Amino acid sequence: MSAARARAAWQLGLALVASAAGTSHAGNCQLTVEANDMMQFNARALQVDAGCTEVQLTLRHVGKQEAHVLGHDWVLARTADVGALASAGIAAGFDKGYLPTGDKRVIAATKIVGGGEVTTITFSTANLAAGGDYSFFCSYPGHTSMMRGRFQVTGKESLAANRANPANQAAPSR
Ligand code: ZN
Repeated sequence: MSAARARAAWQLGLALVASAAGTSHAGNCQLTVEANDMMQFNARALQVDAGCTEVQLTLRHVGKQEAHVLGHDWVLARTADVGALASAGIAAGFDKGYLPTGDKRVIAATKIVGGGEVTTITFSTANLAAGGDYSFFCSYPGHTSMMRGRFQVTGKESLAANRANPANQAAPSR
């Protein structure tokens, strides 16, 4: 093999490695969010791929305050429901995770964590409609106005295609 051909083969190998790495990141179904003692999430917007049937979300409290002093959770809901859910959450109290029990407006929610704690949830995307307007927020009293952001499902065409196929309709969950 000539030096030129050897180099070409080596470059082809590099290209294949690069494309394989790109493919493995195409489906963004895992998210990690950090929250701190300054009542801040480290993200103002989160995206998941429409091809995800489930999303795994990890909330990490990187501060020092205990859960009952300055805890955080991560809640997903329609943007239009955030205000009402936050109010109902305050009424529900700490022991209920500052969320109304069994409220269908809650699409997904973690427990409340304190400084140094981490929690992970997995939720189905079956309740996320194509083109829906969603937000994530912290339901701890007084946090919601600062700790919220947009939650976007990217590649909505494929999500719509999934919805159109009855075989892909998930059974109502919980
Ligand atoms: Zn919070």
